[in-house]
Amino acid sequence: MTVAETLAAAVAQGVDAREARMLLAEACGCNVVSLIAYPEREPDSQAVERFCTWARRRALGEPLAYILGWREFFGLRLLVGPEVLIPRSETELLVERALEKLPRSGLMLDLGTGSGAVALAVGAARTDALITAVERSTDAIVVAMRNALCLNISVEFHLGSWFGTLRHRRFDVIAANPPYVAEADPHLGRGDLPHEPVEALVSGLDGLDALREISMGARRHLRAGGWLLLEHGYNQANDVSALLERQGFAEISTWPDLAGIARVTGGRYNPDKFTQV
Ligand code: GLN
Repeated sequence: MTVAETLAAAVAQGVDAREARMLLAEACGCNVVSLIAYPEREPDSQAVERFCTWARRRALGEPLAYILGWREFFGLRLLVGPEVLIPRSETELLVERALEKLPRSGLMLDLGTGSGAVALAVGAARTDALITAVERSTDAIVVAMRNALCLNISVEFHLGSWFGTLRHRRFDVIAANPPYVAEADPHLGRGDLPHEPVEALVSGLDGLDALREISMGARRHLRAGGWLLLEHGYNQANDVSALLERQGFAEISTWPDLAGIARVTGGRYNPDKFTQV
């Protein structure tokens, strides 16, 4: 079977053509461009067999990233598996804001790091910074640590819940992409979401439990003038701004992702506004 025929068979099963190419490239150990350039080549039978199994899994709805075992995020190739949320392009906005707010040689904290995406993307771009990442799931933190090793990026990892293991440490930037989907949100049944760890997605009735907890704890872990940056759902910008306001944060702003959806809200810790604890 040629490359073209192999791909056509997968597309006939319902696999998206671009994804089929990525799966075949992975199965052959080559890149997508060479598949496009040489459609008449005949991949060896082992590669075709591997590909057919993967295409079947994809046709049944398993996420592409879990089958490939990786996803590209902020120019990094991150290992991913069903232990972690699949890094999404909208989260690159959180990385961009963190890079912008982090002073030279600053300290950054990534809460609920999952695959390590945010911590590693900032760490890759800013070797001057000291990055700490917290994750509650043992299985997930193993993935994050493996990514840090493979990419040779230095991150201090803590196994724990939000600020639980950080004692009195303070940071210049705290970034988080916590779970923020509401329990009954129908979109949990769509796309990749049914295959992803539910504890990385869902956070209480209104989806705001984790965002509330993080907003309340953050001031004890920020340096004066430091930023708390939170990713949230498409309809949560007002709620998150109100949470930050109630906690006395200053310069509260919301930024849209590339799809124009309000996606990250942040505020600055101003110790003068925190007279009572
Ligand atoms: N943005 C994700 C989604 O709705 C949710 C990720 C999260 O809860 N942090 O698909």
